[in-house]
Amino acid sequence: MPRPKPKVRIGMIQAAEEIRFRCDKPFRLMTLDGQEQGTGRADVEYRVEKIESTPAHIRWAVRLAIRETEEEARQFQAEEKLQTKLWRQGLTLPLNHQLIDNREYWIVTGPFATHDQAQDFCRSYEPAGEAVVVKEIVSPAAGVLRCGDQRFVAGLRIEPQDPTAILSLADVTVGIEFHWQHKRTQQLPGCLEIRFNTSGALLAINELDIESYLVSVNSSEMTAENPMELLKAQTVAARSTILATMGKHHYDEPFHLCSDDHCQCYHGIANVSSASQQAAAATEGETLLFNNRVCDARYAKICGGVMEDYEHVWDQRRIPYLVSGVDGEAPIAADLREESDAKAYIDSTPDVYCNTLKYKISSSLPYNTRELFRWRVTFTREQLEALIKSKLGEDFGKLVDLEPGERGRSGRLKWLDVIGSHKTIRVGKELAIRRILSESHLYSACFYIERDRAESGTVLRFHLIGAGWGHGVGLCQVGATVMAQQGFTYRRILQHYYRNSTLQKLY
Ligand SMILES: [Zn+2]
Ligand SMILES: [Zn+2]
Repeated sequence: MPRPKPKVRIGMIQAAEEIRFRCDKPFRLMTLDGQEQGTGRADVEYRVEKIESTPAHIRWAVRLAIRETEEEARQFQAEEKLQTKLWRQGLTLPLNHQLIDNREYWIVTGPFATHDQAQDFCRSYEPAGEAVVVKEIVSPAAGVLRCGDQRFVAGLRIEPQDPTAILSLADVTVGIEFHWQHKRTQQLPGCLEIRFNTSGALLAINELDIESYLVSVNSSEMTAENPMELLKAQTVAARSTILATMGKHHYDEPFHLCSDDHCQCYHGIANVSSASQQAAAATEGETLLFNNRVCDARYAKICGGVMEDYEHVWDQRRIPYLVSGVDGEAPIAADLREESDAKAYIDSTPDVYCNTLKYKISSSLPYNTRELFRWRVTFTREQLEALIKSKLGEDFGKLVDLEPGERGRSGRLKWLDVIGSHKTIRVGKELAIRRILSESHLYSACFYIERDRAESGTVLRFHLIGAGWGHGVGLCQVGATVMAQQGFTYRRILQHYYRNSTLQKLY
């Protein structure tokens, strides 16, 4: 008898007026509280329409910090001058004889009258990038919908009896907010739930077991050309992250993760690779734990030589399994938090696993990693001024200079001061810095600045000279590839990148 696996709920369509689906096997139509209200036929298209709905009543608030325990959260509140309250976010999943509990405490202030006021407050709060606008659901959305000639209050579930049944969901938007955005029909295992989102529009959720989901989301990155130990390490990391983050990114909606880039691209059963299936089967249920909690096992493309600490990229708290370390065997003497050491390190080509100038890696990667271990980007002063203004949406006058702030242990900047003739704007953290210095994202926040100046001293050109690609926290994908090519096992790779964690088979 197969052991039960956790179920994940994926938001496939996040807002629609009607939803169309079909199933290749007969199915039951259930109410949200589990009552059978009818049946559906195989290979017939069904249309779900909204009859009436009321949006959720929401208020804007600002999250100042996240803490794992109530004690730590209370301590933060005691030290913070502002009026705050605690929200408990995340979920618990009963599994065999244990309970997976990923809940955490959010320390929140507000409410604010508008989203803009909450946003302005975040910009004024120090350290830069720490405060985030959040939604408080005062009362959830409600409504009535119709499927065929049946009416359902609040929502319905489409549950095929045959576990091999495949549902087809029409008009799923892929690539939201990207130029390739389009709609397609997705083939989905598991069951489907249709209900109201916070604005009162229809929402389609695919509920399926975590292993099927994992195989699907990993497939785009996993081909047979990659070493199997790398794929296994990535699969364990992805499984852990799903379990650790379920219910947090979309705390305000009734699903765990969305199907687009924001969380992980999920296209149902289309293009499932056999390499991904093999890696999932070989590690089924294996998860990274720290202190009996599942690890949020982050990963990025190329660390550049040293992994970054969690708190310098996201919120200010120590995560003992996401700590800085050298991505190689030999320790380094430099302290990359120092500007001069960071500059010298970026200018060097250290012997680390992700040094793609030294190691050749599998050609299946869709980018040129040789150019991203060390890189250089140049802007004229005018180009950069226009770019930063459009990204920040703020007029700081003429761009005078860029002033690097403190650095984390990988050399990544925690903040950057944009010095304008009218005012100086502090930009942080890592992702915000990368966003303002590129049309999409600068490769990393591990860079130093060189300037060409006119005789008057005015900057003519800015050169950003940097290392690595991505936030650099946790597993370094290129470094892990090289480790696997050198014969390290996936367990050893996971130990290298997630220090202090343990591997356990949860199901
Ligand atoms: Zn998402
Ligand atoms: Zn690396």
